[in-house]
Amino acid sequence: MNEVKRPRKPLMFYYAIVLLALILFNALVMPFLTNPNVTQVDYSEFMNMTNEKLVSEVMIEDNQILFKGKNNKLYRTGLMDDPELTQRLYASGAKFSSQIVEQMSPILSILISWILPMVLIIGVGNYFSKKLVERAGGGAGSMMFGMGKSNAKVYVKSTSGIKFDDVAGEDEAKEILSEIVDFLENPKKYEAIGAKMPKGALLVGPPGTGKTLLAKAVAGEANVPFFSISGSEFVEMFVGMGAAKVRDLFKQANEKAPCIVFIDEVDAIGGKRDGRIGGNDEREQTLNQLLTEMDGFDGSKGVVILAATNRPESLDPALLRPGRFDRRVPVELPDLKGREEILKVHARKVNMQPNVDFGAVARAAAGASGAELANIVNEAALRAVRDGRKTVTQADLEESVEVIIAGYQKKNRVLSDKEKMVVAYHEIGHALVAAKQSESAPVHKITIIPRTNGALGYTMQVEENEHFLLTREELENKIATLTGGRAAEALVFNQITTGAANDIEQATRLARAMITRYGMSDAFGMVAMEQLTNQYLGGDTTLVCSDETSNRIDEVVRKLIAAQYDKAFGLLKDNAPQLHALAKYLYEHETITGDEFMEILHKTENPPALPVGEA
Ligand code: ADP
Ligand code: MG
Ligand code: ZN
Repeated sequence: MNEVKRPRKPLMFYYAIVLLALILFNALVMPFLTNPNVTQVDYSEFMNMTNEKLVSEVMIEDNQILFKGKNNKLYRTGLMDDPELTQRLYASGAKFSSQIVEQMSPILSILISWILPMVLIIGVGNYFSKKLVERAGGGAGSMMFGMGKSNAKVYVKSTSGIKFDDVAGEDEAKEILSEIVDFLENPKKYEAIGAKMPKGALLVGPPGTGKTLLAKAVAGEANVPFFSISGSEFVEMFVGMGAAKVRDLFKQANEKAPCIVFIDEVDAIGGKRDGRIGGNDEREQTLNQLLTEMDGFDGSKGVVILAATNRPESLDPALLRPGRFDRRVPVELPDLKGREEILKVHARKVNMQPNVDFGAVARAAAGASGAELANIVNEAALRAVRDGRKTVTQADLEESVEVIIAGYQKKNRVLSDKEKMVVAYHEIGHALVAAKQSESAPVHKITIIPRTNGALGYTMQVEENEHFLLTREELENKIATLTGGRAAEALVFNQITTGAANDIEQATRLARAMITRYGMSDAFGMVAMEQLTNQYLGGDTTLVCSDETSNRIDEVVRKLIAAQYDKAFGLLKDNAPQLHALAKYLYEHETITGDEFMEILHKTENPPALPVGEA
């Protein structure tokens, strides 16, 4: 992409240069101006020389005594409180006088030695930065070193830029955005029918789903200038600067219309104005300015504002009303097909073996965002390089899915035999409970090689097809599967370990959601008792019920999980031979695939008939 960046260095940079120049000037140049070859001597030496009549001329200055010897050399010495000096000099026959001080006022000397160079340097710097800005096609009007200037980057159309093709999945978002591109390129078509383009579109979605990428693709597709700035860049140290930047940005945009302005991470300035005392004045001023500017410009002129955020609920309602950001473009986590396409888009850039099954990788990477998928492809390529291969294989991709989920293999962590055995039973516990329930996703892989995220082992389940609705039974089965690890430990070793912490956390979260948000408990029915607050960032919840209800929820959650634990324990007990056989295999091999798992399971369930004649 032909990205023309406005050259802008931080203010500190210039101050540092000015300071350095001044220090150099005062240290190197000044001494040359003031002292030609003058030898510095003691006052006693000076007295000796006058007494011995070796001095021809003396000049008494206000901070030193300069004198010339009969040998024509120049000397200087410091002033002393010496009342007899005049007498002695007269006696020595030297010509002497004191300086007629046309002393510069200290203010003037500061002006000359410090302020003047500073003004000069700033002037020159500003001149050059303006020149560069003009060459970059930006607007005019600058304050000192770009303070209060929008530092929007201007993208111009280029042939090598990011296009909609580079954004996989997200078809709805692309459709909405291509309409905007079309409007900017053929406004007549829309005017003819009397349609007005939305002034702004807000891209909302979790991190890494391609919001910024989409905006760049719009820039690559549209034949118009594209201003891009991040919300945080408006937030300045000085009050009022953010507002000035907004003003400047819109001024530039109006001059360049039709064009697109993209404000990334808009929540940095667009947060709700809560009117709290001591609230963030600067941010509110900036937001107010943004609101004013968005009302102020003429939509038909063709300035379209795009903004992106992953916290839409925190935005000020004024920003979201029609006439401002009146279009909301959801950019969600990709589904199975989307994941496959994103993998393919990124695989275009690496050397892939031709037979790679992207569908399988996409299935294993359930819940991954576009950014994570891009990362998976890159990890796979790195793994191939590490192994000294020229192409990326299916195995590379599958291993890097695990790296993204669980971190790297920790080869040097050595588990004791007992611990390894416990981990093996724990993981098989999960897998066996899952396999013995009808509505559970099949086991894909189990390993007990420790990972850098702290997991000592894990069980990977992969859904055959993606589904978007979960039944109550499926959720309960999930909880049972999560408790299966601990249940196996308890059943086999009659003791429990810390290894189940993460399982417990997940099971509790699921059980709570079933009760407080999905209306899946008989005790409460369809009542919402928790609200999702940060939908796209981890999904925090806040409780919206009385303390008494909250206590009862805790009790119901406890019962729900206990029931599922009992179910899991029972399942494992009934299938103890399989549990032992599988755990033994996992302990010996450290990794077991879904197919191997099923094979051992069936073999143990239907042992081959013993040959006749043997006991
Ligand atoms: P965000 O939504 O947080 O702004 P980005 O647009 O910055 O996410 O995405 C980060 C990276 O993830 C992109 O540079 C791209 O490599 C990859 N990516 C994300 N979504 C997609 C997608 N839909 N298609 C292709 N690549 C994607
Ligand atoms: Mg982004
Ligand atoms: Zn576990």
